[in-house]
Amino acid sequence: MRALAWRAQEAKIGAMDLLETLVGKGLRREPLSRAEALAVLETSDDELLDVVAAAGKVRRHWFGRRVKLNYLVNLKSGLCPEDCSYCSQRLGSEAGVLTYTWLKPDEAAAAAEAGVAGGAKRLCLVASGRGPTDRDVERVAGIISAIKERDEDVEICACLGLLSGEQAGRLQEAGVHAYSHNLNTAEATYADICTTHGFGDRVDTVRKTKEAGLSACSGLIAGMGESDADLVDVVFALRDLDVDSVPVNFLIPFEGTPMAEKWALTPQRCLRILAMVRFVCPDVEVRLAGGREIHLRTLQPLALHVVNSIFLGDYLTSEGQAGKADLDMIADAGFEVEGTATTTLPEHRRRSKTSASDDAPENENGDARPPQPRGPARADLVAVRRRGAGTNLPPNA
Ligand code: SF4
Repeated sequence: MRALAWRAQEAKIGAMDLLETLVGKGLRREPLSRAEALAVLETSDDELLDVVAAAGKVRRHWFGRRVKLNYLVNLKSGLCPEDCSYCSQRLGSEAGVLTYTWLKPDEAAAAAEAGVAGGAKRLCLVASGRGPTDRDVERVAGIISAIKERDEDVEICACLGLLSGEQAGRLQEAGVHAYSHNLNTAEATYADICTTHGFGDRVDTVRKTKEAGLSACSGLIAGMGESDADLVDVVFALRDLDVDSVPVNFLIPFEGTPMAEKWALTPQRCLRILAMVRFVCPDVEVRLAGGREIHLRTLQPLALHVVNSIFLGDYLTSEGQAGKADLDMIADAGFEVEGTATTTLPEHRRRSKTSASDDAPENENGDARPPQPRGPARADLVAVRRRGAGTNLPPNA
């Protein structure tokens, strides 16, 4: 426990007791210090199973053995004017992803129905772009009506980009339960991944959606060249925003994007990141999101001991593992799919709602970012989505 011991000393906590301390804090919802969060990321592979087991105690305390399934419907794909360098839909992307404008309400409802039939409890309606026009918001309201006609109880999350307060209110009226808008990375490194909007714009949208009474879903993308300190910064920012759901994405390095060669993650590092998020946000829905198949690979089932939520089937522009394989993995690992009759969040969190640069600069804390491993593009691991929404082929659910 060398790494733990070092940080524990800094945090003035007995080394061997640190994981126990983290579990205790998680069960009591006491905030972690930065040193404690960093200590989780600095653990060795020998310590990994102890870390996962400790995070698992916190996960089971708040969420039992339930796994919430979320299903993505890409309402509008590609041709975005923004330049988020991790994104296959960005300005100038040569990733060859599906490009199409808004799905019609019946097309979106059909795609949504497939996800619900596959076991999804929440539908995530996503559209590429900087943010919606008021007309787009009305369009999404029409899509929600079409979905609710088929399934009144399904939980709807919208993810449409930067939003005004009025638009957030209109979405809430239209039946949206949650709004998803990731912070993605630390404020200090945000300009390394995007120049067309800033970290503050994203924080502003999360705040506005909360003010409108929507459940806030906001997370991060790991593997873009960030340091451990950057990861802790973004997760602490999410904690400060008191979001209900934290999707943890692992970069999908699409060929044809600036990050095509960033293969910096190992399955072990992914698990440490997930555990850190769980300890910092113990009673929040921690969602294993994009990139799990290609980075966690055969260790995916271990992640279920830490997260309580995953996406089912395909992602916005890439293909995930078969929906049936997701369900089999959950059952084999001894977990159960969360039903619609169960409320995801613990009682105290329920609201009164209707239901990176290659130069590795130093960040503001003076922490040098690690050298960035690079590798050739991996077309064998990253499969551009060619089925489901926007195609004539059946979806993966
Ligand atoms: S993340 Fe969103 S805003 Fe950024 S390029 Fe992709 S679709 Fe556009």
